[in-house]
Amino acid sequence: MKWIYFDLIMLALLMSLVAWALIKKQVRWPVLFTSVISVAYFGFFRQGCVCSIGAIQNVSLWVASPTYHIPFNILLLFLLPIVFALLFGRVFCAGVCPFGALQELLHFKNYKIPKVAARVLSFFPWFYLVFSVLHAATNNGFIICHYDPFIGIFRLGGKLPLLIFGILLLVISIFYGRPYCRFICPYGVILGLVSRVSFWKIKVTNKECIKCKLCHKACSVDAISLSSKIKGADCVGCGRCFNSCPRNNTSQ
Ligand code: SF4
Ligand code: SF4
Repeated sequence: MKWIYFDLIMLALLMSLVAWALIKKQVRWPVLFTSVISVAYFGFFRQGCVCSIGAIQNVSLWVASPTYHIPFNILLLFLLPIVFALLFGRVFCAGVCPFGALQELLHFKNYKIPKVAARVLSFFPWFYLVFSVLHAATNNGFIICHYDPFIGIFRLGGKLPLLIFGILLLVISIFYGRPYCRFICPYGVILGLVSRVSFWKIKVTNKECIKCKLCHKACSVDAISLSSKIKGADCVGCGRCFNSCPRNNTSQ
């Protein structure tokens, strides 16, 4: 069996597990479990390629150029996380994407940067998405793959500047949640847009909120407002807020 078919099965299974954990059970441990599997399998074993993020470019070229043949499995790799996002939010980002999973596993201290700085930086993924789509559609190359900061880490070698950049991102992610997801990833833009209208939404707790704001503090990507509302586009489904909520730790 070609590995790519196994990739698709793994993708669907892990996203289903995360969706069950986040929507039905409101627990974080399966996210950590899938993160470890994802980093090991999609990251180090499959060496981060092909991936759903890079598939943006195959799809762009396919749409723009009728002579380009896109393999069906790459199309599925692109579409499956979007379909899951439409149903359950960004379950792919939670712990199935190896890039997100690696940052999630390393994240330890939740420091914040000024809101204005985060806002300005958050525009970059939009520019990167438009630029990479145009670049691929005009057959000028796949820049997302070319400048991928994590491939070198998963392959234990590569271009030095990119390796340094990847390691820098990982060091930052120890103290600041998901820098690549928040300020670079073009696929996160698409998943965020779709997640705005997802059928099922993640909730911090099913019990009445006591406005303690602990979930707001716990969220590493600033996806929870002061009134405890989760912003579907920004939430990467890490599940940290479940653990922070005192209402989830009481029986009433
Ligand atoms: S935002 Fe991008 S890099 Fe981060 S988890 Fe989602 S798809 Fe992966
Ligand atoms: S709201 Fe924040 S803490 Fe809760 S699951 Fe989403 S990203 Fe994680």
